Amino acid sequence: MKIQILTIFPDVCKSVFSESILMRAQEKNLASLEAVDLRKWTKDRHRTVDDAPYGGGPGMVMKIEPIDLALSEMRSPASKVILLSPQGRQFSDSTARELARETDLILLCGHYEGIDQRVADHLVDDEISIGDYVLTSGVLPALVLTDAIVRLIPGVLGDEESAQQDSFSAGILDHPHYTRPSEYKGWKAPDVLLGGNHAAIANWRREAALDATKKRRPDLLRP
Ligand code: SAM
Repeated sequence: MKIQILTIFPDVCKSVFSESILMRAQEKNLASLEAVDLRKWTKDRHRTVDDAPYGGGPGMVMKIEPIDLALSEMRSPASKVILLSPQGRQFSDSTARELARETDLILLCGHYEGIDQRVADHLVDDEISIGDYVLTSGVLPALVLTDAIVRLIPGVLGDEESAQQDSFSAGILDHPHYTRPSEYKGWKAPDVLLGGNHAAIANWRREAALDATKKRRPDLLRP
């Protein structure tokens, strides 16, 4: 799995790529992660990627030319180009699973007021939003997608079971987790988890996961 993030803020990505599970995924050759500076494809002295909006109004709009040049060079026949946009389809666990089956993703980040609409209309394969709110740039959404996708690649997480038990994987929330000490300030971990009866523990976890889902996200249980 190769993921390239095309942005004017590549340094933001570098620190995320060089820590923890994303770092280990690269060390194990399970993922190749790269932050690509869009300004490489500018031609003027100021390395301009934006211009004033046609029709007037506030802010600046990202130009199509540098993006087109960048994508032409970065794309392979296997590439799927995704524009991060608050107007895209909403990212979810199932979208992450769908994208984890791809081999080559290019995540295009907008900045300023957004991107010339012709990019979305002609140059990308998909548009994804991480939620109904607006961020200043697409670089954090691109990192959210990268993290959620890479952890689903087989072999990336230490324990394969953990991704299967996580919230949303089986359509419900995860069960609660506890660790030492068994009692803290009078707050006790459930006795069943300390007893070593694996069938009872599995049963408790199933019930606790369902209970959490009913209380917090009843929408997940609706057909
Ligand atoms: N004017 C745009 C609108 O209202 O639809 C918002 C532009 S936003 C300030 C700048 C960039 O941040 C967008 O082009 C997009 O790449 C990114 N962005 C902001 N919010 C996002 C979200 N919820 N999901 C994905 N990308 C987002």
